[in-house]
Amino acid sequence: MSTAHEGEGALGELLDPELPAATYVLEPDVVEPLTRRIVTSHTAGTHRSTLPFTGAPLAAFPLSSTDDVAAAAGRARVAQGEWARTSLHERTAVLDRLGALVLERQSEILDLVQMESGKARRSAFEEVADVAMACRHYAVRGPGYLGERRVPGMLPVLTGVRVHRRPVGVVGAIAPWNYPLSLVLSEAIPALLAGNAVVLKPDPQTTLSSLWVAELLQEAGLPDDLFLVVAGGGDIGAALVDHVDHIAFTGSTATGRKVAARAGERLIGTTLELGGKNPLYVAADADLDSAVPGVVRACFANAGQLCMSIERLVLHERIADAFLERFAVAVRDLTLGTGLDYTADVGSLVSAAQLERVTRHVDDALAKGARAIVGGVHRSDVGPFFYAPTVLDDVPEDALCAREETFGPVVAVTRVASDDEAVRVMNDTEFGLNASIWSTDVARARRLAARVQSGTVVINDGYASAWGSAAAPMGGFKASGQGRRHGREGIEAVTEVQTVAVQRGARFGLSLDTLYALGGETPSRVLSVALGAMRRLRLP
Ligand code: NAD
Repeated sequence: MSTAHEGEGALGELLDPELPAATYVLEPDVVEPLTRRIVTSHTAGTHRSTLPFTGAPLAAFPLSSTDDVAAAAGRARVAQGEWARTSLHERTAVLDRLGALVLERQSEILDLVQMESGKARRSAFEEVADVAMACRHYAVRGPGYLGERRVPGMLPVLTGVRVHRRPVGVVGAIAPWNYPLSLVLSEAIPALLAGNAVVLKPDPQTTLSSLWVAELLQEAGLPDDLFLVVAGGGDIGAALVDHVDHIAFTGSTATGRKVAARAGERLIGTTLELGGKNPLYVAADADLDSAVPGVVRACFANAGQLCMSIERLVLHERIADAFLERFAVAVRDLTLGTGLDYTADVGSLVSAAQLERVTRHVDDALAKGARAIVGGVHRSDVGPFFYAPTVLDDVPEDALCAREETFGPVVAVTRVASDDEAVRVMNDTEFGLNASIWSTDVARARRLAARVQSGTVVINDGYASAWGSAAAPMGGFKASGQGRRHGREGIEAVTEVQTVAVQRGARFGLSLDTLYALGGETPSRVLSVALGAMRRLRLP
């Protein structure tokens, strides 16, 4: 990608706070081919996005109107009819090529994702890896998930029944800004493989990354109009719900509720991947050598702007002090930076709004008596929206960050006296997206996992082992969502189930009609005898 950048450097090299951390420019020959892909009639104005690393303007592009959303859904519907008739083999080949291309062209999307979201490159790479894993998984297992299933019929031999998975039609995807590559393709890959078309409404801040995905899908061989992008904010997301056959929404719980209500009016299916307040428990027998770096990653990957990120650290009192001493050192050692390279551990927050939210949560906790063991400060010396990785102790129950999702680099410590208390604390939240347990006794950790109300529970890791296992469903209990992405569940969500039942007996004179023609009580008697025999034979 023809990006020019200078002044790369990690924390500490920028002595003059007036200096922009770096200057990154997206050249017109990069931006224009991408923005031409937006479905727009150029009547809804222009959006100007910002480079989080410096706060400077990044790109301008036309927005879509609500009529454009209807037009996009119409085009997608036409293309979908044809696509659904292609063989699974053809569709799988597109995924295979996509998985190879995303690895080959990763430097382009890594730059773009970093420039739009402000994240560190290693967090951007997690997106590339997720897409490669999802492509591989669905290319190998997808056809099996979609294959027809023979099930026992009403009467053995006389009834033949098969269950089919049919595409729902047009899937509307609404995505947030925090993982603009992987969250977009997590929805699109199974949807397209199942024979659907996708209309995507990305967050305005990360629209270019989504348009790059559209380009990549085309290069992978996806026919026109099967993956269309509309640009805009909440009004355009809401309009999308009105024109599609299923909504795959990823974002906050507050918006998810609105989307679910609107989808409910239309009786269309939804997959809702929402917020979390994820706990991590370090048990008394945890191996602190591996726990310390693992917990640091669990809390501060993507500057905490990861739905599976840990915001509540639950420590067994026997190891709490020893753990915190080492944890604080490791958190202080994290480097913040703006480089389009792998030098920084932690990047910027995405926007002034995110910075305001994080600052408000931390300041509120400190005002109510919490103590910052590490961090608790805005790092404007690195960039306008950087915030120091922060560990808070003694956070009171009524602090905002005790219950609400902060979605930033902030973790609050709670000490517990037993595993039972740990489970109670972990479950004491309206959310249930991800949880983590650290213990050298995996069998015990598994027993605890069974008591934790969370869509994923990761043992001796924060999140990657669950997220990266594309065969395993991922999603939320309670207010963290409905439905799952990844695995069988992720593709079944974008299909309708159809039962095709064949009455076979007619050609032998044994149809239901011949039975009912016997008249009177005879049909009921014959059927009762047959049902009794089936019960005794334990036929399903
Ligand atoms: P958000 O809810 O503000 O926005 C998400 C998307 O919804 C954006 O594209 C936005 O434009 C759109 N939108 C806003 N109002 C809408 C409406 N009324 N109808 C339809 N669409 C509308 O969320 P955000 O702040 O961008 O993202 C952060 C949130 O996303 C956090 O809560 C985070 O936990 C969550 N998240 C969850 C997962 C998951 O898999 N569970 C993954 C990533 C992020």
